[in-house]
Amino acid sequence: EIEVVRIGQRLVRDDRVTTHVALVSRAFGAKKIFMTEINPEIKDTLRKINETWGGNFSVEFIEKWKPIIKKKKEENFKIIHLSMYGEKINDAQEKIRKEKKLLVVVGAEKVPREIYEMADYNIGIGSQPHSEISALAILLDRIQEGQQFEKEFPDAKRKIIPTKVGKNVQVKETRD
Ligand code: SAM
Repeated sequence: EIEVVRIGQRLVRDDRVTTHVALVSRAFGAKKIFMTEINPEIKDTLRKINETWGGNFSVEFIEKWKPIIKKKKEENFKIIHLSMYGEKINDAQEKIRKEKKLLVVVGAEKVPREIYEMADYNIGIGSQPHSEISALAILLDRIQEGQQFEKEFPDAKRKIIPTKVGKNVQVKETRD
């Protein structure tokens, strides 16, 4: 069970990046994202994606990051904070794969120091600065070793049948 929290709010809102963090969370097998960047459109976008492509990924807006991290710790989630300063993913992946419940924390701008201390793991996807979208995707892939792509998204209206050439989409009949 994997959930994600994105913290931080830029002055110039970074809606596309935030939406992409949510889309990657959903597509790479997380169940839920908490975010401090309150933009109702993101909820709407993800609701429509669920309707069309299935599953019940959820988005929850939160005011502060700390209470959710505390709550999840009480629920026995382990906290993984993604940071370029953290432990190498190549060294940490075996032990984090063994965890049953994970809350992944991704930042936007500079993250508060306290997060480094509250986290059970600070993990670097390489030690170069890049993007929360790519860091999250690679972490989720390393944890699940590709198995996230074998999962079905239930109640989808459309389902892609992977093909070598062209597009093959199964459309579910609806009675209305
Ligand atoms: N300058 C910020 C800082 O010093 O914390 C980082 C900004 S970065 C665009 C936003 C987020 O992407 C970070 O908080 C982190 O979660 C993630 N990130 C970027 N590069 C990373 C890396 N090499 N490994 C892990 N996470 C990374």
